[in-house]
Amino acid sequence: MMRPRCRASVPAIAEEESPVKFRLIYPKWSKLSGQTEFHLPPHGPVVFAATLPPDVDVEFIDENVQALDFDDSVDCVGISMMLTSQVKRGWAIADEYRRRGVKVIFGGIATQLHAEETQTHADAVFLGEAEGRMEAVFADLRAGKLKPTYDYLNTPAPIETVGPARRSILKRELYNYKGVPMVDLFHASRGCRFNCYPCAVNYLGGRSFRPRPFARVIEELSTIENNRLFVVDNSLAQSKEWELDLFREMIPLKKKWCCHPIEDDDQVLDLAAQAGAWYVYQAVFDTSDFIRDRIKRYHDHGIGVEGTILLGLDEQTEDDIKSLVDFLLEVELDLAEFTILTPFPHTRTRDDLVREGRIVTSDWDQYTADKVVYKPRHMTPDRLLELYNYAWDTFYKDEPQTYKMYKLMQKVVAKEMADGTFVPRRSELARKRFGRVTDGKPG
Ligand code: SF4
Repeated sequence: MMRPRCRASVPAIAEEESPVKFRLIYPKWSKLSGQTEFHLPPHGPVVFAATLPPDVDVEFIDENVQALDFDDSVDCVGISMMLTSQVKRGWAIADEYRRRGVKVIFGGIATQLHAEETQTHADAVFLGEAEGRMEAVFADLRAGKLKPTYDYLNTPAPIETVGPARRSILKRELYNYKGVPMVDLFHASRGCRFNCYPCAVNYLGGRSFRPRPFARVIEELSTIENNRLFVVDNSLAQSKEWELDLFREMIPLKKKWCCHPIEDDDQVLDLAAQAGAWYVYQAVFDTSDFIRDRIKRYHDHGIGVEGTILLGLDEQTEDDIKSLVDFLLEVELDLAEFTILTPFPHTRTRDDLVREGRIVTSDWDQYTADKVVYKPRHMTPDRLLELYNYAWDTFYKDEPQTYKMYKLMQKVVAKEMADGTFVPRRSELARKRFGRVTDGKPG
């Protein structure tokens, strides 16, 4: 027999006595077509789960690695969406639950970018940061008075209220690649002082840099068992003094981590390396000496570089894209992730392309950053797609992606061996037992 679908439909006394059975869902989305398929544990849902009141019994389903059964009994569903390419699936999930009488609340970055459309599939849409705000939302749910919108987009929560993420909701064993556990995600700050052309951070209310108190950062880092992390802050290169202090605090923990850009400064890079910087995601947008030197400085400090390379900008010609790929090989980028310019909602890119009548489709399922959804300035959409495939194929022609990933893994293993934090994993144990890889391919 099915449980009552929503607490709003049962007497108030019972509502106070039993926890809300809340299913938090992270909709499925597609990896880039050229990318090796692996899944990181999502960060938004675990940060959000930490904000839930104690009388909410949360179960998390990441559709990227778990099956979703609509017949399971739940009182309320939360849908957390990070990417535009998740929204149509998120809406479909919501429609099915609502058809069954279950209340659905949406949140996350993509919900904020697609708030109006999402509203038509939701009982409530939560916009902004959740810390300190979920008690009121769930009280409304229990009282049967959910508001259509909870809008905190321009009123961020006090940064000191951001507590340790609730990673216990993850089925951690589902996040591994060839037997090696994936990194854990973590953030030391929110916001970003930059305003890059294709980015929506401005709209999302994140233009001011807000570092978390170091005590809270270290408290959280100390609870993460995994030695390998992805520090997901928008960019660490926000404040030199803050970076120096952060890295000094992190050194004793001996974590190893990848991150978005670090300040281009020898003192900062040196301290970052001591604090365990393993590799960075660095935007590479041209073939200038500035970029060449930037990459060299990371490498000089023993920090790897995964380039994030955006193709299809208005100033890029076909020849520019080909030269850029040659350049990436020449500067010995450790990994490269190519994407196609995508006009996400509430970005200057979209404003410009809409004004110029160059948007080809607003089917959000196509907004995966490996499809051309607009008319490029210097080539046809088909030609840009060919060049995108050319970039992936050419960069990984001599050393396949899995081999370059393996080489990057060797770097972290060497760092861990050096400071005694290395923990052999299943595949690493197998490699040890069966000898070193000698055929140029990872195990
Ligand atoms: S640095 Fe990153 S988060 Fe900040 S504006 Fe640029 S793209 Fe957006």
